[in-house]
Amino acid sequence: MLNIVLFGPPGSGKGTQAAKLVEKYGLKHLSTGDMLRAEKTSGSDLGNEVAAIMASGKLVSDEIVNEIVRKQIGLHVGKVPGFIFDGYPRTTEQAKTLDMFLQQVGTSVTTTLFLDVPKEELITRILLRSQQNGRADDTKEVAEARVVEYNKWTLPVASFYDSQGKLRMVDGLGDIDEIFNRLAAFADLALRTA
Ligand code: AMP
Repeated sequence: MLNIVLFGPPGSGKGTQAAKLVEKYGLKHLSTGDMLRAEKTSGSDLGNEVAAIMASGKLVSDEIVNEIVRKQIGLHVGKVPGFIFDGYPRTTEQAKTLDMFLQQVGTSVTTTLFLDVPKEELITRILLRSQQNGRADDTKEVAEARVVEYNKWTLPVASFYDSQGKLRMVDGLGDIDEIFNRLAAFADLALRTA
């Protein structure tokens, strides 16, 4: 399987690029942010539980997101050529759990693609996005809180994958297709060497 962790700070373009990777490689897109927003919209107990946390820009608990991902892997494994994890794992605990989940179904993370975007650019992009999609957590204050959470909890996940020799840095500046070509070059390489 080709299992890609698409990694990067909020506003680095993970969602946009994930959609293009899905189109090219036929992968199942697992975005914990999208799944949590869907829970919120559906008004489920889980959705109500996570709404305030998401609105604050803080991270939802590892237990909740791990369980969502575990279910999705179980539903799709064997039916797709691989997964693209977008916005997950966001803590080292989640990364360890993902390794375990994938191992249980006989596979592993193939590569981690880190969309590298300078921090000055992130808030600008998030604010631009808010004009296009009206996401509730795309305000300046919440975006800043998300970047703080990212630096505290998520950035260490890059070292976790680096220590496994699975981290690839990708320049996240430029136009969408240009960035996509850089990602696809690494995905192709991973496929050839898998
Ligand atoms: P995203 O769409 O990936 O930016 O996620 C939006 C919000 O959902 C985040 O700010 C968190 O509150 C929550 N969230 C999404 N994915 C995770 C995750 N893997 N771990 C914890 N919280 C998450």
